[in-house]
Amino acid sequence: MERTFIAIKPDGVQRGLVGTIIQRLESRGYQLVGLKLMQVSQELAENHYAEHKERPFFPGLVQFITSGPVVAMVWEGKGVVAAARKLIGKTNPLEAEPGTIRGDFGIDIGRNIIHGSDGLETAQREIALWFGDSELVNWTSSAQSWIY
Ligand code: ADP
Ligand code: MG
Repeated sequence: MERTFIAIKPDGVQRGLVGTIIQRLESRGYQLVGLKLMQVSQELAENHYAEHKERPFFPGLVQFITSGPVVAMVWEGKGVVAAARKLIGKTNPLEAEPGTIRGDFGIDIGRNIIHGSDGLETAQREIALWFGDSELVNWTSSAQSWIY
C-alpha cells in the first residue's frame, strides 16, 4: 500500500494545529502508520531539504525547521502521496485554495505549517530518512472495508 511522509513544522505545532491536521488526513480515509514528536537536528534538516541547498532561502529554512518540535508522520492509503499534497495546498499559502491546510491556516511561504512528499520516490527517501523500520506499524483497520 502507498505511503507518504508528512511533517507538521514548528509553526503548525506551536499554533496548535496538530490535531486538526491529523483529523483531516484521518477523515479522508488515510491511515497513520508512523508518528513521533521530535527536535530535528541540523544534519537531518539539511538532508531532508538537500534539493534546495543552493537556494537563498535554504539557511533560513533549516534554521526554522530546527527551531522547535516537529511532528513526523507516515500515512498510508490509495493515492496518498498526491492526495496529501492536494490536502496540503500550494507551497505559498497566499496562493493555496481555501479548504487546503495551507490555504486555511497560512499566509507566509516561510511559515507554511506542513510538509508532504512530492512524489513516490521522494516519499520512499523521506520515510527512510526520518523513520526506522521498527517505528512503522503494519496494521489493518476494520473501517477500511467502508473505504475500499
Ligand atoms: P513544498 O513544501 O510545497 O514541497 P518546496 O519543496 O518548493 O515546497 O520548498 C520547500 C520549503 O521551502 C517550502 O515548504 C517552504 O517552507 C520553503 N520555501 C520554498 N520557497 C521559499 C521562498 N521563496 N522563501 C522562503 N521559503 C521558501
Ligand atoms: Mg518540496
